Amino acid sequence: MKASLLHNPFLTVEDVCDGFVYNQLEGKGLFGWGGKLVIQPEYQRNYIYADGKRDVAVIDSLLKGYPLGLIYFVKTSNGMYEVLDGQQRITSFGRFVRNKFPVVDENGMPHWFDDLNNDERCKILKTPLTIYVCEGSETEIKEWFKTINIAGIPLVEQELLNAIYSGPFVTAAKEVFSNSSNANVNVWRAYINGDVRRQAFLEKALKWVSRGNVAEYMGRHRFDKDCEELKTYFTSVIDWIDGVFKDVKDEMCGLEWGELYERYHSCAYNVDAVWMRVEALYEDDCVTAKKGIFEYILGGEKDTKLLNVRVFDKKTAKAVYAKQTAAAQKKGISNCPLCAVGHEANKSRLWSFDEMDADHVTAWSKGGATDIRKCQMLCKTHNRAKGNR
Ligand SMILES: [Zn+2]
Repeated sequence: MKASLLHNPFLTVEDVCDGFVYNQLEGKGLFGWGGKLVIQPEYQRNYIYADGKRDVAVIDSLLKGYPLGLIYFVKTSNGMYEVLDGQQRITSFGRFVRNKFPVVDENGMPHWFDDLNNDERCKILKTPLTIYVCEGSETEIKEWFKTINIAGIPLVEQELLNAIYSGPFVTAAKEVFSNSSNANVNVWRAYINGDVRRQAFLEKALKWVSRGNVAEYMGRHRFDKDCEELKTYFTSVIDWIDGVFKDVKDEMCGLEWGELYERYHSCAYNVDAVWMRVEALYEDDCVTAKKGIFEYILGGEKDTKLLNVRVFDKKTAKAVYAKQTAAAQKKGISNCPLCAVGHEANKSRLWSFDEMDADHVTAWSKGGATDIRKCQMLCKTHNRAKGNR
C-alpha cells in the first residue's frame, strides 16, 4: 500500500466544504470537495461527534489555529476519494460552516458561522489540512484502517468488523440494525441495551444468529445481497420473548436472549402462569438478582443460583455459626452438618466463619422467612452444591 501527502495544493477546510452534503436523517456527512470526496463510505461508522462537545472542540481548534491532526483519504479506482480516517472532524467543520450548530462562548452566547466576523470565518476556511492519500488493494487498506485507529475515539469491535467485512451484507444489515429511524429499534430497546449508532444492536443480532462466531459469520455472508437470515433469526428471538412474557421489565434489557431462545424455544409455557411467577419473584425480597428471574423460570425454576437468594443477615449467620460450632466441638464432628455425615477427611473438620455460608436456598424454599431457626451454616463447598451462592 502507498500513502502520499496531498500537498499540491494543500486542501483547505473551504475546499473540503465545497459541495458538502450532510444527511440529517442518517446523521452522516455524505460528500465534499466538489463531489470528489465520499465522506462516509459504507465501512465507516456513523457520525458521533454531534454532541455539542466534540464537534465544538473541532471548531475551537480551528479558531485557535491548532492542528486538526492527520486525515486519510483512499483513492478509488474511479478517480474519487473516500475518507478513511477524519470523517468525524470533516463532518464537524462541514456542519459548522453550513450553520448546523453554534459554538457557545464562556458567557453562554451562541456563535453561528454566519455571525462570526470576517477574520474568523477566513481563519477557519483557509486552514490547510494534512491529508494522506492511500492507494492499494482493499485488503491492505482495510488491514491498515484497523491499525491507524489510534487517535480519537476508538472504534468499537463491531465498527471494526463492519470495516473489515464491508460489502452488500453489512450495508443491508446496517440499514436494519444501525438505523435509529427504524421504528422497530424502539421496540427492541426493551431487550437490547447500548447505542444503535455504535452498532450495539447489529452486534447483538449477529452474535445471536452466529452463536457467538460473528467474524466467521460476516465473512461467510459478506457478499450476500441482503441480510434475510439475520433479520429472520433476530425477529424469531424477539417474537419468542414477546410470546412467553406478557409484559416487559427493565431487567429484561441486556440479557442474552439469543442463548435463551436456543435453549428454551421448543418448550411450552403457560403464559399467564409464567407472568404470575415473574411478578411473585419480583416481590420477593430474598431474590437479589432480578435479572436472573427470566432464565430461572424458563429453566423450570431449578437453578436458584440465578436468583442469588439472600434470607439471613450476617448477624444471624454469626450467631448460628457460634451455636453450631460449639455443639460440633462437643461431639468431635465437623461444624458443617453435611461434612459431619460424610466419609471424607472433612468429617471432623471445624471450618472458620469465612469458610462457611448460610444455607439461604433451603430456608427460602421453605417460605423464605428470616427465622433464625431456619438458618443453617454449611461449608462453602456443600453450600455451593446445594445451589446457593
Ligand atoms: Zn461441608
